[in-house]
Amino acid sequence: MNRTLLARSSAAALFLMGCWIAYTQSQKQAPELKINKITDDLFEIEGDGGNEAVYITDEGVILVDDKYDQDHDQIVADVRSVTNQPIKYILSTHHHADHSGGNAKFLPSVEIISTANARANIVNHKQANAPPGMVPAHVVFTDEASVFLGGKEVRAHYYGRGHTNGDAIIYFPALRTIHTGDLMAGGTPLIDYPGGGSVVEWTKTLDGAMQLDFDRVIPGHGPVTNKAGLLAYRNDVEKLRNRAQSLIRQGKSQEEVGKVMIAEFKWQPTGLQMQWSLPGMMTELK
Ligand SMILES: [Zn+2]
Repeated sequence: MNRTLLARSSAAALFLMGCWIAYTQSQKQAPELKINKITDDLFEIEGDGGNEAVYITDEGVILVDDKYDQDHDQIVADVRSVTNQPIKYILSTHHHADHSGGNAKFLPSVEIISTANARANIVNHKQANAPPGMVPAHVVFTDEASVFLGGKEVRAHYYGRGHTNGDAIIYFPALRTIHTGDLMAGGTPLIDYPGGGSVVEWTKTLDGAMQLDFDRVIPGHGPVTNKAGLLAYRNDVEKLRNRAQSLIRQGKSQEEVGKVMIAEFKWQPTGLQMQWSLPGMMTELK
């Protein structure tokens, strides 16, 4: 190899390496997902987005939520690691991209069902920070819908507004288990007012869900818990609401209320609550 050719080859190699680094940096990291066994026929996939339930029947698999678009391949691999049954249905808890972002890739082969409001929220781009290309469910319901597959039932209920105006509670009667979506999620509630959420209605919505016969709870984010855990979360929502309401009725400013939420309710100074929840609460709790 002469010098010119060597120089050219090195330059080409460097250029290609540069392209590769730019390419890999533009790609989102491969998702770190983990599939956990809950019962013989119910699993949960955690990591990168909302908790996803996997219910196995002799006629196919029913999922609750499908995380982000980028998680599709890992979800399929995780399901394949526990069953050979095909994925037949996805019951969506709500329109956010960390729960419904996988819709576009699943829809060609899977029936996706959501509340009518969750569908409308995707169609009307109600989540300002959602990635482009979000696709809504093809089948919707307003109060209740059931999927019967392989002798098992999964039921989706709409009890009213809370995190958004379209949150479904998914119920597995035979397992006495519910998936709450983000009506229970993490340490503190995110009230998505642009997405129709309400801190006043949230507790009533959870009171509706508490009427179901269950003792296991898969939250939208965070570890699997029980009915007492959900009740404690509901009471925390009420506490937050009462605290904010008393401040607002004392005439405190949005900034002052925000400071108390940060100090007492684990809100992050630059978190979504400050953008999506605080302004709406100032109006709703007047
Ligand atoms: Zn959400």
